[in-house]
Amino acid sequence: MLEEVRLLMELQDIDYWIGELERSKEYIPDMMKSLREEIDTVESELTSSRQRLEEAQLETNNLELKVGEAKEHLEKYQEQMLTIKTNKEYDALVGQIETAKQEIAADEETSLTLLEEVETLQSRIAELDERHGRIHQENEDRLSSLQEEIDAVEDKMSEKVAYRQQLKSKVPRPTMSIYQRVRKGRGGDVVVRLKRGACGACYKAQTPKKIQIIKKGSILQTCDSCGRILVSDGDD
Ligand SMILES: [Zn+2]
Repeated sequence: MLEEVRLLMELQDIDYWIGELERSKEYIPDMMKSLREEIDTVESELTSSRQRLEEAQLETNNLELKVGEAKEHLEKYQEQMLTIKTNKEYDALVGQIETAKQEIAADEETSLTLLEEVETLQSRIAELDERHGRIHQENEDRLSSLQEEIDAVEDKMSEKVAYRQQLKSKVPRPTMSIYQRVRKGRGGDVVVRLKRGACGACYKAQTPKKIQIIKKGSILQTCDSCGRILVSDGDD
């Protein structure tokens, strides 16, 4: 194999890894973002549930006080019934008793609804707490390994780029320009092996004469169809 072609194969291998590293530089931050969002979502639901629980408990306590007071008033009204003198007083007192009873009933119903809400919130908070503990641990571990990966990507990248520069300086300019043109236009590998007498990339059959030259490996040969540089299938 021609030395320049061997260098190009090494160079295209590096280009492949540079491409992979560039892709990971794009997807790693996205992955990190969604891992953080997952933690934030659980945390914000946990915070709002805890706030609501506190409010509901406060409302329940206030209602209990209110009902207690209303019951005391009711008792007083009922005591007053015993000492009533006129029909007018009687009617007024009956009205007050009725209103007090209605208020107590309404507040007790609200109180029950609140208690149900408190129970629901308490079990939801327990569930969220457990999930938060799990997700937080898992995602933080994942985040720190992704961060390590990102840091390593930068190092690997500059290492590869430096080595690529070295290789590139050894490849003759016309050969390098074939490489760059084909890589830009077609993507993927530029130096490909023959496969049963055809180009290993586009599968165009090559003439027997060309195959012979390729096998000898003394003159650079390209595929007429895709422009890639061809090397023998058994040539290392
Ligand atoms: Zn081809």
